[in-house]
Amino acid sequence: MPVITPALSREPERVQTPGPDRSIVIVGSGLAGYTLLKEIRKRDPVTPVTLITADDGTFYAKPNLSNALAAGKDAAALAGASAEKMAAEQNATVLPHTAVTAIDTQAQRIRTDQGDLPYGKLVLALGADPIPHGLAGDGADAVLAVNDLAGYAVFRSALDGKQRVTVLGGGLIGCEFANDLAHAGYAVDVVHLGEWPLERLLPVEAGRRLADGLAALGVNWHFGRTGKRVERTAGGYRVTLDNGETIEADVVLSAIGLRPRTQLVQAAGIATGRGIQTGRLLQTSAANVYAVGDCAEVEGLHLPYVQPLMAQARALAATLTGTTTPVSYPAMPVMVKTPAHPVVALPPRLGTAGGWRVECGDDGVCALHVDEAGRLQGFVLTGSETGRRNALVKALAA
Ligand code: FAD
Repeated sequence: MPVITPALSREPERVQTPGPDRSIVIVGSGLAGYTLLKEIRKRDPVTPVTLITADDGTFYAKPNLSNALAAGKDAAALAGASAEKMAAEQNATVLPHTAVTAIDTQAQRIRTDQGDLPYGKLVLALGADPIPHGLAGDGADAVLAVNDLAGYAVFRSALDGKQRVTVLGGGLIGCEFANDLAHAGYAVDVVHLGEWPLERLLPVEAGRRLADGLAALGVNWHFGRTGKRVERTAGGYRVTLDNGETIEADVVLSAIGLRPRTQLVQAAGIATGRGIQTGRLLQTSAANVYAVGDCAEVEGLHLPYVQPLMAQARALAATLTGTTTPVSYPAMPVMVKTPAHPVVALPPRLGTAGGWRVECGDDGVCALHVDEAGRLQGFVLTGSETGRRNALVKALAA
C-alpha cells in the first residue's frame, strides 16, 4: 500500500518516511479543521501537522453562504486562502482532494484514496452531510443542497436567469436562504413540516413573527407540509406536496437538515451517537483519536454552530500541545441571519423544567425560558427585541 508523502501532492508514489509519533493529522478543512490548525500553531509552531481534506482545501466561512446574495458575493468572492496558502501560513502539510476511507486505531494509521498515513494524534473534523430529501420523480436528482463552497457555486449557476425557488425546510438554513433569495428579488416558496419556522428552537409567537417578516418580503409559506415528488416540466420543475398541492419552480433547494458524518468512525469501531461521541477533552472512544465541529457529539451535546467549534478547537489545541484542557462553553446564542426579522435564540438545556414567558411588542418578541424557581434558563428575541441580547447573556451567565 502506498504511503502518502506529507507534501501538497496527490501522487502517492513519491514515498517519504512518515513523521514521528508526535505528528498530528487533522481530517477536514472546514472551520473546525482550520481553526484547530491555527490554534495549534499559536501554541506550537513546529510539531508536524498534516491536514487532509476531501475537498480543495480553500478556506471559507460557511455561514456566509446563506447571505451571500445580499453581500453581493458569488462563490469565488467567498473563497479565502487556498490550500497552498493555508499550508504556507500555518507551516503545515495540506493534502486536498484526499478522502480518508478507513482508520486503523490499533496501528494508528489512516487509509486514504491516495495511500496510507500514520498518525500520532488524529483529529476528525469531518462535518455533516445534508439529510437525503427522499423525493420521488424525474426531477429529484436536480434538487440542490448547499453545504460547502462548491455546492454554493452550483446553486448560484442554477439561479442564473431564473426567478422561482422552492426551499424545502424552514429551519435555520432554510429561513436564511429564503430571506437572502427573497431580498434579491426571487419568488420564494418554503415547504416546512412544522407549523412555524424553527419550531424546535422558537416558541410559537417568535416563530410566527419570523414567518410574517419573511412573508412581508414575499416568501410564500407551506406549513405542515412535506415535498413528495419533483417532476421536470417544460419550464423547470413541479414540486408536489403531501396534500397534492403543486409548486412550479426553476430551482429546488433542500434545507431539511444535516447529519454528522459518522460512517468512517463507525466502521473503525469508534463510539457514535448522534455524532462522534467525545468527552470534554474531545477524545473519542479510541486512544489518540479526537473529534471537533459538526461531526462531534461532546458529552451528549451536538452543537453544529461556529461558536462551539471555536471553543472546542481552542481547548483541543491546548491539550494536543501539552496542556490538558477540557472544553467549556460560554453562553452561546444562535443568531438567525434573517434581516427581514432577525432572531437570537439561546435555548434552555435539554430537559430543563419550566416554560416560556412571552412578551410581544409591536416590532418583536421577547421570550424568556424560566425554571420552576423563577431562574432564567434561556431566551429567544426577535425583531427590535434582539437589542436585549447582551443583557440577557449576562443575566444567564450570572
Ligand atoms: P465542514 O465545514 O462541513 O467541514 C468538513 C470537512 O471535512 C470538509 O473539508 C470535508 O471535505 C472534510 N471531509 C469530510 N469527510 C472526509 C473524509 N472522509 N476524508 C477527508 N475529508 C473529509 N453556524 C453559526 O454559528 N452561525 C451561522 O450563521 C451559520 N450559518 C450557516 C449557514 C449555512 C448555509 C450552513 C450550511 C451552516 C451554517 N452554520 C452557522 C453552521 C456552521 O457553518 C458549521 O457549524 C461549521 O461551518 C461546521 O464546520 P466543520 O468544519 O465542522 O464542517
